[in-house]
Amino acid sequence: MRICRFTTGEDPLYGVLTGDLDEYGQPGDDAVIVALAGDPLYVGVKPLDQEHRLEDVRLLAPVLPRSKVVGIGRNYAAHAAELGNDVPEEPLMFLKPNTSVIGPGDPIVYPRQTENLHFEGEVAVVIGRICRDVPPEQATDVIHGYTIGNDVTARDLQKSDVQFTRGKGFDTFCPLGPWIETDLDPQAFADGVRVQTHLNGDLKQDGSTSDMIFDIPTLVAHITSVMTLLPGDVILTGTPEGVGPMEVGDEVEVSVAGLGALTNPVVKR
Ligand code: MG
Repeated sequence: MRICRFTTGEDPLYGVLTGDLDEYGQPGDDAVIVALAGDPLYVGVKPLDQEHRLEDVRLLAPVLPRSKVVGIGRNYAAHAAELGNDVPEEPLMFLKPNTSVIGPGDPIVYPRQTENLHFEGEVAVVIGRICRDVPPEQATDVIHGYTIGNDVTARDLQKSDVQFTRGKGFDTFCPLGPWIETDLDPQAFADGVRVQTHLNGDLKQDGSTSDMIFDIPTLVAHITSVMTLLPGDVILTGTPEGVGPMEVGDEVEVSVAGLGALTNPVVKR
């Protein structure tokens, strides 16, 4: 099931997006959104007698992280190497504030404090229920679904500050969407799901989740050994190699096989 959040100009609603994706991960012309009563994370999937064509709505971030976005650094060896870092012995965690989240098509604002703004295309895990100390073999029980994330990073500030809060925490630095896929078999990520990032149509990142150093169940176990995760919290699982700068006026698109594509423009403050 593909859960989305959308507006027709009125108050936002959640919905289920129906129809098949084409070979580029885009919905077909027959795509229709069935509106839901409330947030399915909390009340389950309760369809309303209300449908909208996808082209008639604006999609919003499909989840509002209740407390946090947990990022994972250096989870692909080739990406760690391209920035001159060693592979960590344990998952390297950081937090992005939930105020950094934006939706599909929303602008990424280029802050005046940076001169090196990077994209990082990633698979995002959406947590479905409150959890602590989750063993890896039970991780799928606490996962609501998967979406796409762009872990936007002010690379110069990340380096100069040593810790990541400012470099990864600006408003608009966490595009999420376009929807949450709840039916994906997590084994697919271990087998290899393609993660690509295009900048103005040029392919910049082209990785496979099979190259993750720590798989998703391991990440859930590691994070929840430290902190409680709440429904709607999000884990960004790390980025493959090929990260690079974005400029004002650019358009960045992260696509993940089976999850669609997340596109955002970059604008001046
Ligand atoms: Mg990242």
